[in-house]
Amino acid sequence: MRRTVDFVVKENIPLTANVYEMTLAGNTEGIKAPGQFVNVAVPGLFLRRPISVCDVEDGLLTLVYKTVGKGTDAMAKLAAGESLNILVGLGNGYDLTLAGARPLLVGGGVGTPPLYLLAKRLVDKCEKVTVVLGFNSKDEIFYEREFKALGADVRIATLDGSYGVKGYVTDAAQGDFSHYYACGPLPMLRALAKLEIEGSVSLEERMGCGFGACMGCSIQTKNGVKRVCKEGPVFDAAEVIW
Ligand SMILES: Cc1cc2nc3c(=O)[nH]c(=O)nc-3n(C[C@H](O)[C@H](O)[C@H](O)COP(=O)(O)OP(=O)(O)OC[C@H]3O[C@@H](n4cnc5c(N)ncnc54)[C@H](O)[C@@H]3O)c2cc1C
Repeated sequence: MRRTVDFVVKENIPLTANVYEMTLAGNTEGIKAPGQFVNVAVPGLFLRRPISVCDVEDGLLTLVYKTVGKGTDAMAKLAAGESLNILVGLGNGYDLTLAGARPLLVGGGVGTPPLYLLAKRLVDKCEKVTVVLGFNSKDEIFYEREFKALGADVRIATLDGSYGVKGYVTDAAQGDFSHYYACGPLPMLRALAKLEIEGSVSLEERMGCGFGACMGCSIQTKNGVKRVCKEGPVFDAAEVIW
């Protein structure tokens, strides 16, 4: 259920040179599923900035974001005790019933955050949860330890080979999987869509309102026009026009 909530920043710490983890306290009841996102009102900016729910528990919301421009730069400067107005409960989220016994979760760079809450929800339901995370190099890696602590089989791929498997996430995603869930850059999602198994992909588009009113994030799918913020951001990989 969508609602606007005033959150208080509890912690805002760097995980890498340009990726931050922000923990906020507030009413998180509107957040229903992993893969949903929130829309952050950054003071001084007109449009809210969409960020995936990385974790939610006991009134604490965790966001992990990369600084790429004005909004995320301003977020990185917020200190504990400051408040942020956030629209919560946006998007459809991942469908857990599709997971099967051996799901594969694939995150590319800052596509990793929504998979954390998903992994947390799947580890007790599934026989085995495999998480493959892809980064350019070792210094960009985050959340490896956090996913391992959940009990997932975690594999890291780096493009320059400085850590884990050298290459793309597809080079580290060998095995027998029941369904895949992915979030990351479009070329990565496109490569995954060629896998033999069914998958759910989380898409990103520039957004206006974040709840379906402005149509700004509409995309053409095999099943007609869909709004990434409302019918998505998670889509069946088979319905996306790659
Ligand atoms: C559903 C959804 C979930 C997201 N989850 C996360 C997350 O968990 N962590 C995270 O770091 N980022 C996430 N993003 C991307 C994030 O919204 C943008 O990086 C952010 O809005 C940029 O704001 P800015 O003011 O810092 O940059 P701007 O000054 O607005 O833009 C800087 C650069 O980022 C690009 N950019 C801005 N917005 C987007 C966007 N929506 N998609 C692709 N490129 C964009 C611009 O083209 C430009 O090159 C998500 C986006 C969507 C749509």
